[in-house]
Parts: sequence; structure tokens; C-alpha cells
Amino acid sequence: MAQQPLIELQDVSFQYEYTQVLNKISLTVREGDFLALLGPNGSGKSTLLKIILGLLKPTKGTVKLFGEPGSSFKHKEWIGYVSQKSNSFNSGFPATVREVVASGLTKKIGLFKRNLPNQQKRVMESLQAVGMEQFANRNIGELSGGQQQRVFIARALVAEPKILILDEPTVGIDHENVQSFYDMLSDLNEHLHMTMILVTHDVDTVSNTISHVACLNQTIHFHGYKDDYDSLSDDQLNAWYGHAVRKIHHDNKEKQK
Ligand code: ADP
Repeated sequence: MAQQPLIELQDVSFQYEYTQVLNKISLTVREGDFLALLGPNGSGKSTLLKIILGLLKPTKGTVKLFGEPGSSFKHKEWIGYVSQKSNSFNSGFPATVREVVASGLTKKIGLFKRNLPNQQKRVMESLQAVGMEQFANRNIGELSGGQQQRVFIARALVAEPKILILDEPTVGIDHENVQSFYDMLSDLNEHLHMTMILVTHDVDTVSNTISHVACLNQTIHFHGYKDDYDSLSDDQLNAWYGHAVRKIHHDNKEKQK
């Protein structure tokens, strides 16, 4: 039986005043999917995420979230979001890892009920899920970019979302830690059955983790299983993106060796 659609976009178009950014996007994300959203800079990825998050309204087309029209959808906490700019706390920032994660609870249970007995338990469970429980009492600013990013994912998880949206989460993570970061995301998908949308440029590194790929450049050029994406020709991808996507990626890898 097909899994339930959590996000359904149909013929969604969007323009900022005069610039057409998205054109007739139809995209369905189902429960349990791990979708990599690929596209060059300026292709509309962040705009698409803002539409899913309800921060922007489509100029045309419809959005359904968990089967409900996006405009009347009440359960914002079901959609967890970690932005690209999250991991920017400097060493002086006065909050512990535990406090940062607990701040993710306020959306769900309200500022005045924060001392629920299971709050700390949920904070620790979220930290465990991202492999960061031993850092609970450390100052957030003392952690590396990758460790901070894991803490921000724990902050999103503590609100018990049903889907997690990550916008280029490996920006600021050291190259040698990227694979273990993706392995952690893979565990969340497999063991917590977390549905994921991941905006990334690391399609080769993330390849073993994801189930689906969507290629965006103003419109969705491809959306399907990862294996079908792998069998697309380079010429096809280059035609969509206007430059050699895989080749650039491989060249970068060669340089890093
Ligand atoms: P991506 O995330 O793929 O880099 P974006 O969704 O950020 O792409 O941007 C898509 C296009 O929309 C770009 O051409 C960008 O310049 C334009 N754009 C983004 N935000 C705004 C804005 N607030 N006002 C006008 N144009 C914008």
C-alpha cells in the first residue's frame, strides 16, 4: 500500500514581484521518504521550502499538508525545519546545549508550561537521536559547526515533528565529518521513521542515505527514486541545470584527495 502523502504541491508557481521563480511545481512527499532536493543556486529551492513551511503563498496552484489545504493547516509543529544559517553561535553565546534543545519545546507546549516532568527526558532523547547526549551541559558556542548542527536537529526533533526539512545542513561542517552526519540522518529516517527533505549539493556523498531525488530549476525536471536518478545521463542533467553538475562534483572530489 502506498504511504500517506504528507506534502502535495500541485501546479505551484511563484513570483517575487517581477521575477518568476517557480513554475508549475507538482511534487508529492510521502511518509518515510528521504528526498534530496537538488538544484543550482537561484533555482528556487529556498523559495519552495518557504512555500511548504507556509511562509510564502503560491501565486498559483495548491499546497496540501497532511491532506489539508496549506492555508488552514494548524499543526505547524509537525514540520520541523533546520535552516542553513543555524550553526552560527559564537563561543560567547550564553546557552547550554540542553537549553538550546529545550527551546524547541516552547512552540509545542507553550511558554508557561515548560516545566513538564518529561521535558528533560525528551531533551535527552532528542540529543541521543543525534549522538550528542554527552554534550548536554556544554556551552553551544564551544561546539564545532557539525556538532552545533546536530544540536539544531535535536531542537527540531524535541517538538516531535513528522517531517524534517534541512536546508544545506552540511555547510560549515568539516569534510571528514560530513559522512557521519549523513549516517546520523539515515538513522533518523530508518529508526525513527522520520520523513526527510534535504536540500544538498553533496548528491554523491548522500547517495546511500536517500530514497528519492527531485531536480529543481524553476520547475521540477525530475522527481523519482534515487536509482532512476542515478541512471540519468550527464547530458540530461547538464541540459536542465545549464552546466555540468556531476562533472563539477567529481572534479571537487579529485581536488580534495
Ligand atoms: P536557491 O535556494 O535555489 O538558491 P532561491 O529560492 O533563494 O534559490 O531564489 C530563487 C530566485 O528568487 C533567485 O533568482 C533569487 O534572486 C530570487 N529571490 C529570492 N528571494 C527574493 C526576494 N525576497 N525578492 C526578490 N527575489 C528573490
